[in-house]
Amino acid sequence: MPQILILNEDAGREKGATVQALPTPEDTEFRDEVRTWLRENVPREPQPVEMKAMREFDSAWQRTQYEGGWAGIAWPTEYGGRGMTLNQQLIWYEEYVLAGGPEVGVNFVGLNHGGPTLIARGSEEQKSQHLPRILRGEAVWCQGFSEPGAGSDLAGLSTRAEIDGDDLVVTGQKIWTSYAIVADHQELLVRTGRGESRHADITWVINDMSNPGVDVRPIRTAARESHLFEVFFDEVRIPLSNVVGGVGNGWSVAMSTLGFERGTAFTASAVALHKSVEELIEVAGDSLGPDGRRPALADDELAARLADLRAEVASLRAMIYALVSRNARTETPGAEGSMIKLYYAEVSQRLYRLAMDVLGADGLRFVHKQTQGGWTGGYLYSLSSSIGGGTSEIQRNIIGERVLGLPR
Ligand SMILES: Cc1cc2nc3c(=O)[nH]c(=O)nc-3n(C[C@H](O)[C@H](O)[C@H](O)COP(=O)(O)OP(=O)(O)OC[C@H]3O[C@@H](n4cnc5c(N)ncnc54)[C@H](O)[C@@H]3O)c2cc1C
Repeated sequence: MPQILILNEDAGREKGATVQALPTPEDTEFRDEVRTWLRENVPREPQPVEMKAMREFDSAWQRTQYEGGWAGIAWPTEYGGRGMTLNQQLIWYEEYVLAGGPEVGVNFVGLNHGGPTLIARGSEEQKSQHLPRILRGEAVWCQGFSEPGAGSDLAGLSTRAEIDGDDLVVTGQKIWTSYAIVADHQELLVRTGRGESRHADITWVINDMSNPGVDVRPIRTAARESHLFEVFFDEVRIPLSNVVGGVGNGWSVAMSTLGFERGTAFTASAVALHKSVEELIEVAGDSLGPDGRRPALADDELAARLADLRAEVASLRAMIYALVSRNARTETPGAEGSMIKLYYAEVSQRLYRLAMDVLGADGLRFVHKQTQGGWTGGYLYSLSSSIGGGTSEIQRNIIGERVLGLPR
């Protein structure tokens, strides 16, 4: 029988949501301890937007969490983690959101899929070299998967790597590489064969971003985000000892990475939607509605959409609990993670679309998403949630084929 986890008694009570609580005594004790620590230690100043300042801020905060004993809650203790359960990781995310903790920022890749991939597929040496540095906030990672000609069709990638002595020599281009300018390492997919097989030719390798021949160029976006980059490789030498899972086995390692990226990396953001919807209800109570006389919350249509959204966020949380419960019994998240990724993208886009309707003309004033009241920045950024980490169409294909067993 699958275990049913409904963990957050207080969040439900505080905001009137219908959450039933069945925590174990250990979970309750853990939640109390986490809550006390977070309320005392969460940074009060806003997370900076500029990349270098963001790295400094995020690394310092990660270091504080590590020193407090709260980094890598479900990571193995031998690499600096706490070795706790996924339930406890989820409790941490819930309390983190309630305490107003900043977004994971530049540490997204290292903590959410680079590190977990090394735990599942890396050598002992790779794990002990990289995992503690990620947890201590000393190393930032980025992801070099997408290329101008290979996004959804990742197996079509063409960045080449020739084996020369003890090195791979890499030439090609990646695109949409989040945080590349401040990253120390990169999970990089390269083509090591001659194109005989689209999948068997691919290798997953750790690239040191300070290697000669790596050139990082910024991409500007509508959301005024500065975190996306193109990365060019001109005969970049990477030691073969940095290959994870063996030369030519990169497709299978990449599937582990995407399993984490789609299955668990969005958990914290999905949990955060709970708080956002409650904040939006407050904003609707304070903003003038479409009739220009009463608050937006008094408008029947807006109020009904807010109620629907609250219910949708509650169902997203229920799906997360079910996924966490399932993942607790498997090493790598399965295709079910795509259901969370897909639904999260839809609900977050509906939330920000509704925020724009609640704000009316006030929504035209740009406020960055990291800043208090940053609904407009959040709206523009939310448009990317059905693309980043794999598009919604691709998630639907995965759910159809691998979860529901529909024909290809
Ligand atoms: C905010 C953000 C951050 C990102 N960060 C990174 C990063 O750090 N590292 C990285 O490597 N990449 C990153 N990406 C890139 C992201 O993974 C790709 O954009 C995504 O996989 C889609 O690829 P594409 O842009 O090439 O679109 P395409 O693959 O060209 O898709 C174009 C359209 O065709 C549809 N389509 C394509 N194939 C199919 C199919 N088989 N069935 C149905 N529909 C299909 C797609 O759904 C989409 O609507 C990021 C993207 C965003 C938006």
